[in-house]
Amino acid sequence: MTPETTTVAIDETFLSLQGEGLEVGRPQLFLRLGGCPLRCTYCDTPRSWTPMETSSISEMEAELDRLLADAGLRREDLMLSVTGGEPLQQADFLCAWLPTWGGQVLLETAGILPDELERVLPFVDLLSLDWKLVKDLRRGGELLQSERCLMAARDSGVAVQVKLVVTETTTAVELEHALQRIEHIAPQCSVYLQPVTPFGAGPKPPNGQQLVDWSVAFARFDLDLRVLTQMHPVLGIR
Ligand code: SF4
Repeated sequence: MTPETTTVAIDETFLSLQGEGLEVGRPQLFLRLGGCPLRCTYCDTPRSWTPMETSSISEMEAELDRLLADAGLRREDLMLSVTGGEPLQQADFLCAWLPTWGGQVLLETAGILPDELERVLPFVDLLSLDWKLVKDLRRGGELLQSERCLMAARDSGVAVQVKLVVTETTTAVELEHALQRIEHIAPQCSVYLQPVTPFGAGPKPPNGQQLVDWSVAFARFDLDLRVLTQMHPVLGIR
């Protein structure tokens, strides 16, 4: 490994249930990396914006293995969920370390670093791409490159899910525009409309009937479109 890939900025590591998307309800090992240039109005992990802790990769790996060993598990028994923050800010680390991990990998990204994503995709089994609406960002809207990220995932052949957080201020026009672009790039893609989980003074979710109305109106798209709330806050877990 090069010097740039011998340390990693970590926010937290833990075992829990996946609370979103295709893998919802499955136990996973979580590696939350620190650092994010965006400021989503609904962010539930603001402490991850600024990396607080830098570990050596060997220390981080030992901690992940300890979590698994305490549960009597091996690396291949659980999917590793690499989340953030924005994990692709540490693409050098991911490219150097993920090939050595040996288990399945889910990578979450906010869709802002397509070149880095292309480099990391060969080491990913499932990509979870957040499709963010510019108006839901207090900062960093100019960084969004959702379309290029989805194209890179499509061209790589990796399994991909798109997560689109919806709030009480999301409009049908915004949603329709986003779904058109997703369908155009990746027909039949799994798309999750995720009602925002209220956090602090952040936005509130749309009401249930609104979600029904959108789902019916947009059933015409050639997408696997579903509404799914985050399950980990419902269960009171991380
Ligand atoms: S991309 Fe994720 S970590 Fe960054 S501000 Fe948005 S929700 Fe928070």
